Amino acid sequence: MFRKILIANRGEIALRVIRACREMGIESVAVHSTADADAMHVRMADEAICIGPPPGTDSYLSMSAILSACEITGAEAIHPGYGFLSENAAFVQAVEDHGIKFIGPSAEHIRMMGDKITAKETALRLGIPCVPGSAGGVADVDAARAIGEEFGYPVIVKATAGGGGRGMKLAKSADEIEVAFKSARTEAKAAFGNEEVYIEKYLGTPRHIEVQVFGDGKGRAVHLGERDCSLQRRHQKVFEEAPGPSITPELRDHIGMICANAVAEMKYEGAGTIEFLYENGEFFFIEMNTRLQVEHPVTEAIMGVDLVREQIRVAAGEELSFHQEDLQVQGHAIEVRINAEKLPNFSPCPGTISQYHAPGGLGVRMDSALYDGYRIPPYYDSLIAKLIVHGRDRPEALARLNRALGELIVDGIDTTVPLFHNLLQAEAVQTGDYTIHWLEKWLDENL
Ligand code: ADP
Repeated sequence: MFRKILIANRGEIALRVIRACREMGIESVAVHSTADADAMHVRMADEAICIGPPPGTDSYLSMSAILSACEITGAEAIHPGYGFLSENAAFVQAVEDHGIKFIGPSAEHIRMMGDKITAKETALRLGIPCVPGSAGGVADVDAARAIGEEFGYPVIVKATAGGGGRGMKLAKSADEIEVAFKSARTEAKAAFGNEEVYIEKYLGTPRHIEVQVFGDGKGRAVHLGERDCSLQRRHQKVFEEAPGPSITPELRDHIGMICANAVAEMKYEGAGTIEFLYENGEFFFIEMNTRLQVEHPVTEAIMGVDLVREQIRVAAGEELSFHQEDLQVQGHAIEVRINAEKLPNFSPCPGTISQYHAPGGLGVRMDSALYDGYRIPPYYDSLIAKLIVHGRDRPEALARLNRALGELIVDGIDTTVPLFHNLLQAEAVQTGDYTIHWLEKWLDENL
């Protein structure tokens, strides 16, 4: 096992990894920008090292600064968390070239899934059902028109290098395809430096269902059920739950085994998420994320496993500590993402926390790096806390979430907490009957 791990991240996810290290008897090294000198991850780690000025590009995204921090502290492995360098194949390559272990999949697997056309081709080859659409990139407007005719409108033009919902354009009819095609290419070029686009059938009322997978890198893999992350604003997840309210044990088994087998065949190492749109009983692959997800705690709650511990174990060459048959859904879990944002516009709201009190009690988990007097810097993501609840069933989880939100105190700044108080009253949230479009519509009507 590793003696010392460096965590190339900040905020709640850095704390999450430090906690796993401590329970495993592994020393942790925090890295931080000058803006984060007082951050909780710096206080909580065994060692801390400053890697640069506030902007992410000069600190948490600086490969050379992070590699130097590893050399100086003698860390043997790097945990990337999510975001920043977690899905950067060049970084993984550089880490391995320095004789340091990257806790996550290989550079090759990250590259394969980072390009959406290659990812879709790989998925199809491995027997994963995909959204019908163009075979590969679409070169010009005539080709785009032909695809529109073949699959029928509406279609969506998407950037192969896409991420964060950018470079995606809807064409509802043949009249709109030329504009959609050209603007998607322009946006893709500006955002990702790669103008290649592909075209898919646009699904009208899908849910976002994602399957958590885990591989040992040697050809053994399991799935850990699904999460429903349909409640999104601008393609950003806001509220996640597991298991999915619309997914039966048979469906879970069916799609889960397809995913586990695919990941086993790839000899994939570590945690991954295979994302689907789910409509009328059918799953359609959209992408695979080759890292730990923000919403991983809901899976941990219902499966009773520590995914970060497992990532570290597998990276150190140990066997998976569970078999597929050990992984049975226990109850229901929900996560809400608490952001430092001002409603109704969700404008970022950094500032000083004058008072903080975390909720507690049975089935409540608060993953956060907040503390009394903490100054939230303006340079990074606005996620400040994840409140996760677990109950014996969905109604109990909802009641527990309501109770825990009532106990939470975050004073001094605006947060998205009031949104969740309101959202919990909505009938669709109570029944679990919503699609990926439901939240945006509800926000328009209620905020
Ligand atoms: P990104 O990597 O930019 O997040 P994704 O391919 O994961 O892009 O898609 C993000 C979101 O866009 C999905 O969760 C869904 O809401 C919407 N979307 C993507 N493809 C389709 C499609 N074919 N039909 C309908 N909605 C889609």
